Amino acid sequence: MESFDELLRKAEVAHGHLCAGQILGVRMALLGLGRLGIADPHGTDRKRLITYVEIDRCATDAIGLVTGCRLGKRALKFRDWGKMAATFVDLAANRAVRIVALENSRELAAQHYAHIESKNQQQMQAYRDLPDAQLFREQWVRVEIDPADLPGYKTERIRCARCGEGVNFGRVAEVGGEQLCISCGNPERCYWRPADPQCRS
Ligand SMILES: [Zn+2]
Ligand SMILES: [Zn+2]
Repeated sequence: MESFDELLRKAEVAHGHLCAGQILGVRMALLGLGRLGIADPHGTDRKRLITYVEIDRCATDAIGLVTGCRLGKRALKFRDWGKMAATFVDLAANRAVRIVALENSRELAAQHYAHIESKNQQQMQAYRDLPDAQLFREQWVRVEIDPADLPGYKTERIRCARCGEGVNFGRVAEVGGEQLCISCGNPERCYWRPADPQCRS
């Protein structure tokens, strides 16, 4: 495993800036990997790990970088819960650890680094220095992953009977005997609307 400083440098480059979130994300990911005993997430251990992130903020980029888990590899799962938390799943050992960043880190940072003027710098220093137990809560958990959500899963691709768009991985809604895509079969789940309501296609 690369050192904390090396990983942080890479996270800064990939993310575009160094911020408290990068430091926090690198710490969270290192803690999770350490608990699982995964030392080489980009090499020999690369097929062992799935990571669930619960927020789409700066730290998420760092978690993806350190773990090597990416959306495009189906190894990074996003649950939009607005929590600074991530769950690291070891598929080989069938165990998982969920790590939550504690809310009181700002107060801790203000206490420990009162001599630093900028709140942001205080926070960054706290995320660098404070021990894991002061920054995080961790819990062993079980995660049932649908085989269709695992990397490498393959199944036949269908065409939605209504819009004709191709759909992968069984993401299909059966409605009135027809195989529909999620947006046609469950319009309430569709995240977009036609810009021109007159135009239906
Ligand atoms: Zn950032
Ligand atoms: Zn459709």
